[in-house]
Amino acid sequence: MGGTKRLMEEREEDESYGTGLLVNAGAAKRCEVHGYLLDREDSGAAEEVVEEFAEERGRDEAEERVKAALANAGMECPGCHRK
Ligand SMILES: [Zn+2]
Repeated sequence: MGGTKRLMEEREEDESYGTGLLVNAGAAKRCEVHGYLLDREDSGAAEEVVEEFAEERGRDEAEERVKAALANAGMECPGCHRK
């Protein structure tokens, strides 16, 4: 009872945490106007995030989280088509 909901919340927290790390590392950024997450295609920066995350969660989970966070990022903002 309630277990599934808790798991989903944890998953969402993990994703936003991964997203925040990507933005901090410069692997992704948010459109200043619309807030959409944009992939900056900086695989070096993404790799740094994996390394940092891996210390906490382990390599496999770190790679999965970073991949999931980048999957949410677009190449350009759907609101203003800026990159
Ligand atoms: Zn925009």
